Amino acid sequence: MEALKKIRVKHIEGFNIVERGWGISDRFPNNEIRINKHLHEYPELLEGILNHEVKHTRHQGFTKKDLVHDLATKNQYSQWQLMKFCLRHPLALLQAVPIYYTRKDGIVFDINAMITMAIVLGFVGIAIWIGLSL
Ligand SMILES: [Zn+2]
Repeated sequence: MEALKKIRVKHIEGFNIVERGWGISDRFPNNEIRINKHLHEYPELLEGILNHEVKHTRHQGFTKKDLVHDLATKNQYSQWQLMKFCLRHPLALLQAVPIYYTRKDGIVFDINAMITMAIVLGFVGIAIWIGLSL
């Protein structure tokens, strides 16, 4: 298992994979997919997420096609795994922030993040609810 964790996918279908310490994953227009570095501890989840990301359109900004892709393909990876991931790595929840600033990218505006936020909060709500009723 330790050996598996050390395998780092760097490229997939023409995209560079860049690791960061927060969020889940985002596509950037410069053919970059940024993923939470902790996703390597969840190889199945990571694979599902990467498969999802490469299927987005190459348009910049918001497109209806991307929205449909996000809504229709939620089940490409285990939402249970994703929930566990978010609970163990709470910085993943920053994925839900629709507007943020980094020195590298300036202001990034992400409509899909609002949808992700709804989904993630839904699952966190369920987790809390399960936790309270145990
Ligand atoms: Zn997506």
